[in-house]
Amino acid sequence: MSVNSPMWVEDVDPRTITEPSGQVECPVDILQGRQHAKPGPLRDSKKQRHRGNRASACKMSIILDQETDYAELVLSVGEITLGEMSRKLMKDTQLRKRQAQIISQAVCTLLNSGGGVVKAHIKNSNYTFTRDGIGLENSFRDILPFTHKYLDYKQNKDYFLIFVKPWIPDISGQRVHTLKTNFYMRSFSSSHELKGPDVVKFLKGMKYSKGRLCSRQSLPGLCDSDELQPEFLVMFFNMEKFTYKETFCFTKSKHAEVKMSPKKKILEILPQTVSAFANTDGGYLFIGLDEKKQQIIGFGADESDLAQLDSEIEECIRQLPVTHFCEEQEKIKYTCRFIQVHRQGAVCSYVCVLRVERFCCAVFAAEPDCWHVEGSRVKRFTTEEWVRLQMDTTPGKRKKDPSIKHPITQSL
Ligand SMILES: [Zn+2]
Repeated sequence: MSVNSPMWVEDVDPRTITEPSGQVECPVDILQGRQHAKPGPLRDSKKQRHRGNRASACKMSIILDQETDYAELVLSVGEITLGEMSRKLMKDTQLRKRQAQIISQAVCTLLNSGGGVVKAHIKNSNYTFTRDGIGLENSFRDILPFTHKYLDYKQNKDYFLIFVKPWIPDISGQRVHTLKTNFYMRSFSSSHELKGPDVVKFLKGMKYSKGRLCSRQSLPGLCDSDELQPEFLVMFFNMEKFTYKETFCFTKSKHAEVKMSPKKKILEILPQTVSAFANTDGGYLFIGLDEKKQQIIGFGADESDLAQLDSEIEECIRQLPVTHFCEEQEKIKYTCRFIQVHRQGAVCSYVCVLRVERFCCAVFAAEPDCWHVEGSRVKRFTTEEWVRLQMDTTPGKRKKDPSIKHPITQSL
């Protein structure tokens, strides 16, 4: 393994990545005595520059930079186009998005790891920080409140340096900085992602009541999904067949989600929608309905496709990260059906209907998008680790967790 091994590659979208920590790692000893991040000189590294260029040419990655004058943890993110105008003019919008994402991830990692420096090789040669700005200000504002308290910037020849201070657990109870919680609930007619403080509030409520099965026993009937959901949704779910372009009479709601997707896109819909229903009061997902025209269309498939899709849906739902506070520790309960759509007497397509029960505790659509350095590796917190940290009620500092090694404490 090379010294500056890439920890993370561009074709892994940090907003959808679902691997638990441990799969994105860099087995290199980066631990040295460190001070708080502050602007200053940074030595160019030919080796680092070479690796950075190679990385940006093929894969964008975060690299641990050991050849630096800083005692800080330095994360190199390869080539980045900088400057408000230059970034606006980038033709490759996907690359522009990935560049912003990788910088956000590096900043998040350092915030949760005692601070450090993000080092970017400036791609546009005529760039001047004081004249052109950064062009990433919106990204920083999106991921970090009070950006000026945590970030400082400096250009050093061909390199742009972001000095990141350690995250200070805030009054809202956020012990770690999180890019995305990946925790969804239903609100009116859509699934929306909760911010960290709201997730913690939800989790604390679950912990206090030891899940929702207990409250169901004390309030019989009130938590039964069927009683909370309109009867026509139950009837639609139980239909034996539909007619092509037949109209339907309901719209999206807290208990119903309607999608018109091809078969290959169905699995992309599931994590957010299923977790949102499970975390709220349950609900129905109907795939194959044209919401604008209120018509039943369906998606093309044959019997073998449906069997495979059924097992893929099960696997997808079983892999959703869950957190329990109850004794029962049940799995996510759902029912999936494929209903034939007929046209001129023959089956022309299928509608996929999914009924999701309200979950006893909490379901995430994916592991929280939250990173740190553990030992000598950059890792994503597992959902279990994230929940444990965020639920920690110790005032002030983050409680020391023996299972999560911190680079600063390790180096002392
Ligand atoms: Zn539970």
